[in-house]
Amino acid sequence: MTFTDLNLIQPLLDSLHKSGYTTPSPIQQKAIPLILSGSDVMAAAQTGTGKTAGFSLPILQKLSEGKKAGANSARCLILTPTRELAEQVHQSVQKYAANLSLKSVVVYGGVKINPQMLKLSRGTDVLVATPGRLLDLMEKNAVGFKDLEFLVLDEADRMLDMGFLPSIKRILAKLPKKRQTLLFSATFSESIKALSQQFMHNPKLIET
Ligand code: AMP
Repeated sequence: MTFTDLNLIQPLLDSLHKSGYTTPSPIQQKAIPLILSGSDVMAAAQTGTGKTAGFSLPILQKLSEGKKAGANSARCLILTPTRELAEQVHQSVQKYAANLSLKSVVVYGGVKINPQMLKLSRGTDVLVATPGRLLDLMEKNAVGFKDLEFLVLDEADRMLDMGFLPSIKRILAKLPKKRQTLLFSATFSESIKALSQQFMHNPKLIET
């Protein structure tokens, strides 16, 4: 199996080639077709399995086909538990999107909020965020989600362990119902299952 077999477009295949990836990992082989087909996906995945490319590549492909975001708007929201993971995901997204005209912005707490507000003012295709800082930005109307098409909860179990459930619920309440939702978690605990039942639409399960 190659990335070409997964029906990825040439600009993405070119960045994968440049990154030296030849074979899709098991989670990529399963997740990419499901996400391209429009399903919600819930995947059990540890770090190091290639999960980031597993959700980023099909999302970027679909974003490249649609309309741009309006001012202070994002088309894809990726929530992560920590600033380190947010940075890492943002850098991966930028690498995979290098040959597409898509914009990614990353926001997290512990740094000044104003530069982040400025970056969001013209809208973004992808927004990678930690929950607390995202809520601050939403309260300041620096970002809204009328154009949202994709929501990714990355390392969902870690976000719950860190006490982000109330923040996640407040964010989810502001998102359009019509969207594609993807959830990645090392484990499927009861609380993860409860979250997915509340916020996902007939998710397809991937266990690698
Ligand atoms: P992740 O699990 O998303 O954190 O990815 C783990 C590491 O594997 C990252 O450094 C990726 O750049 C790399 N990676 C992801 N997919 C592939 C692939 N298909 N072939 C080779 N390396 C990959």
